[in-house]
Amino acid sequence: MLLLTPGPTPVPEAVRMAMSTPTIHHRTPEFEAIFGQARGYLKKLFDMEEVLMLASSGTGAMEACVLHLCQSKALVVNSGKFGERFGKICAAYNKPFIEIKNEWNTPVSVEAVVELIKNDPSIDAICMQVCESAGGLRHPLEAIAKAVKAIRPQVMIIADGITAVGVEKVDTTHIDALISGSQKALMLPPGLAFIGLNAKALEMIEEGGAGYYFNLKTELKNQRKNTTAWTATTTLIIGLNAMFELIDAEGGLEKLYADTAKRAHATNEALKALGLHIYPKVPAPAMSAVLHEDASKIRKILKNKYGVNMAGGQDHIKETLFRINHMGLVNVYETAWSLNAIEMALSELGIRHFDGTANRVFTQEFYK
Ligand SMILES: *Cc1c(COP(=O)(O)O)cnc(C)c1O
Repeated sequence: MLLLTPGPTPVPEAVRMAMSTPTIHHRTPEFEAIFGQARGYLKKLFDMEEVLMLASSGTGAMEACVLHLCQSKALVVNSGKFGERFGKICAAYNKPFIEIKNEWNTPVSVEAVVELIKNDPSIDAICMQVCESAGGLRHPLEAIAKAVKAIRPQVMIIADGITAVGVEKVDTTHIDALISGSQKALMLPPGLAFIGLNAKALEMIEEGGAGYYFNLKTELKNQRKNTTAWTATTTLIIGLNAMFELIDAEGGLEKLYADTAKRAHATNEALKALGLHIYPKVPAPAMSAVLHEDASKIRKILKNKYGVNMAGGQDHIKETLFRINHMGLVNVYETAWSLNAIEMALSELGIRHFDGTANRVFTQEFYK
């Protein structure tokens, strides 16, 4: 079965092999060297002063950021399930927040954020996604961060980049905290979360520190010495280094970003050529999302007949959305086969006669 969901993504063989070595103890010079190497790779990937690793799924890193970097009032951008989650975390900790809510296909506008920042001096943090995975949209995060910092530099920009880091180059110039997780673009099993931090965020954490398990002050102190406060996810971190080596062997990050962008573009063009509706108004390169009344039926045929596992939607678009992953080292022929399978499924459902359009357009666009 071809796993083409936007998280979890398949774990490459070289990474699985690296993770099959015997377990080592985490309080050893041997593991500290591995941890130090991982830190080096991560700082390059995030392009930030510091990157912390947490033994949790991505949501743990979101929670840690809210806990440490939101004080008087957070502005939460909610264009989907993951934006909504930031609000729920704020509520769980009794942190005041306001929300800009949009339909799940609609990115927040720079103007809407700027207006709130200008009119409400109590806002001191913004929590938002780079790519909102619920609908596959790309927010104008970098433009928002830049505009906000020009008005009030002390506003902390907390960016959830779980479906952006490792997918595309995120400009971190005006971002204070950038979150990622292991099971999406980084091609690892779930269980490891990351937070990239700039000097301002580090200062706040060093002066503050909050909570217990997710106390970033404690983690910072330990991880700077190449160890962790609690038992490290040794196996996943060994896999992480193998994953970075694999990306290097495949031509490096720039090539990965370029290939991902090309695959995403060619896929969207092929889907449109089939007459399908791309759901997000501004699609992110991490995935292609199609809104169709028969999305569930299409997915069922793909899974049962053509061996392709794609993701559906969530909540009100659970049955009407399907999402195709582009994150990680996806082979061109995997995406091509999946598009071909979609076209065949459409034909089977009597929606559109099969004529090979999907593969023709995908191949032409990809190799243009
Ligand atoms: C997957 C994802 C998360 C994290 O979810 P976990 O299940 O906790 O790993 C957060 N934000 C976005 C945008 C995601 O796609």
